[in-house]
Amino acid sequence: MKCPVCQKGKMEKKKDIMEQDGIEFESYKCSECGEEIMNMKQLKVLASKYRKLRNAKDITFAKWGNSIAVRIPSDIADEYNISAGKHGTLTKDKEGIKIIPTS
Ligand SMILES: [Zn+2]
Repeated sequence: MKCPVCQKGKMEKKKDIMEQDGIEFESYKCSECGEEIMNMKQLKVLASKYRKLRNAKDITFAKWGNSIAVRIPSDIADEYNISAGKHGTLTKDKEGIKIIPTS
């Protein structure tokens, strides 16, 4: 594949990493001008990695009396207006547990 920008270089497949997120991705880079291009498949893979990153947060379970407590990160607590003493419902789901704040 020839470079569509400079028409001189050869597009070579390479792996790189998004520095701010640490996400690995694959693209084609021109050997002459350095232009980087992704095909649809490469874009889809990258987009799905970002979606996962956005939706998933690591949490730690802790023991609280006979129960297990979950620590909710403060940015999520703020976003959903969750604070100590408020209520919510806990629903069992196919993939896990869903928490819905109710007050
Ligand atoms: Zn080029």
